[in-house]
Amino acid sequence: MEKEKNNFSKDNFGDMPPEEFRKYGHQLIDWIADYFKNIESYPVLSKINPGEIKSSLPQTPPINGEPMNEILKDIDRKILPGITHWNHPNFMAYFNSTSSGPGILAELLSTAFNANGMLWKTSPSASELEEVVLNWFRQMLGLSENFWGIIYDTASVSSMHAIAAAREQISEYQIRQKGLAGRKEIKRLKIYTSEQAHSSIEKGAITLGIGIEGIQKIPVDKEFRMIPSLLAKAISEDKKNGWMPFCVAATVGTTSTTSVDPVNEIAYICKKENLWLHVDAAHAGVAAMIPEMRYILNGIENADSMVVNPHKWMFTPVDLSILFTRKPKILKQAFSLVPEYLKTSEDNAVTNYMDYGIQLGRRFRSLKLWFIIRYFGTEGLANRIKEHLRLGKNFAEWIDHNNNFERMAPVPFSTICFRAHPKNINDEIQLNELNEQLMNEVNSTGKIFLTHTKLNGKFVLRLVISGLRTEEKHVLLAQEILQNKLLEILS
Ligand SMILES: *Cc1c(COP(=O)(O)O)cnc(C)c1O
Repeated sequence: MEKEKNNFSKDNFGDMPPEEFRKYGHQLIDWIADYFKNIESYPVLSKINPGEIKSSLPQTPPINGEPMNEILKDIDRKILPGITHWNHPNFMAYFNSTSSGPGILAELLSTAFNANGMLWKTSPSASELEEVVLNWFRQMLGLSENFWGIIYDTASVSSMHAIAAAREQISEYQIRQKGLAGRKEIKRLKIYTSEQAHSSIEKGAITLGIGIEGIQKIPVDKEFRMIPSLLAKAISEDKKNGWMPFCVAATVGTTSTTSVDPVNEIAYICKKENLWLHVDAAHAGVAAMIPEMRYILNGIENADSMVVNPHKWMFTPVDLSILFTRKPKILKQAFSLVPEYLKTSEDNAVTNYMDYGIQLGRRFRSLKLWFIIRYFGTEGLANRIKEHLRLGKNFAEWIDHNNNFERMAPVPFSTICFRAHPKNINDEIQLNELNEQLMNEVNSTGKIFLTHTKLNGKFVLRLVISGLRTEEKHVLLAQEILQNKLLEILS
């Protein structure tokens, strides 16, 4: 194999030459365009066994540089087989996250600039575009001007920052100054969330020294929504027992069933008890763009913070999560720490995003949000989400009219919880086994990928329609495969 003339010689210290970059850049863009064109020819779920990818790769690094075309060839040979295709229109597992053309192009540019947006000065465009684009996004969701936004990597990190701000709000405890450990003079902190909340709320609380004992899970009603009266009761009992309630995390679009907690009623309790209300709308929040769906954020004006992930249902390559808060000053109070070498003369006139979180360096993430909103337009984005809602309702109806299946939860968005339940099988253990087998067999076709959850001890399949490339025919294919596989198993 003839090696190309590039930087393989010992006395070449620079980067890849521009002409070589151009050549392989074009080649790679062509590769990506073909990948999307042929996306449906790949198995959605990778069929690789544990360790297979690792053992196909050398265990030591190359001493001499390798030609770019060899590296690219290994994408096809070694890497692609171990990819689960999140962009596949029949990826209906978890909460989908699909990439998009404008998002990919913006990511490319963002890595080219390699701008580190820690301070305004370290790239004014990064800071100011983040302010502008989050102001757009705030309007798209119908949030008031009281909400200030910041981009973090994931909802887990956004929620952790919200909980940290909630902790900082208990000013008399001076937690920033004195910490929490070993302090007998203060009461232990308690945070409340529902039994259906995402594990990231607990992880955030664990990270911040609240401890698992400081996390109270409030029961849900039969539609999987937090019961406000039980929240109020838990708070008053805890206060009697010497705890310090400080935060409630409500969910708009829970992970299992996308249930929507009654934010309005919860906000009322929080106001009365002086607790920080954080709303986790990581997946479903973007649906508020559609006027008929804006109700999901009823009461949000009384919340202190809210997280929403464009990297879930808004076609943004991972990662990009947004935290909105009405109290950026408290967030800043919790995290700002400016050493001499990071002080700038503009500090009072600009937003230095490093002041609002634990990380110093920040990727230029707003660029991809800007590309995506401009390319699709607010109406284009809303229409796509609306179509997913329509397809979700269709699938739910299909389940409701099928004698072999039953629906297991309401469908406020486009996530459907259901299970196979043939007339002659009523033993719950047998039903759990049947549904697990059905899921595994459906997924092993490679044609669709869905995941499960447990509701009241029952094994439940979950089908999520939120992919950019998902159309009616894909949902119909999912129905056909589910039906056929079930009949196959039963016969
Ligand atoms: C997905 C999800 C999260 C976690 O999101 P990451 O960005 O992966 O951290 C948190 N809460 C809810 C409700 C989610 O759907």
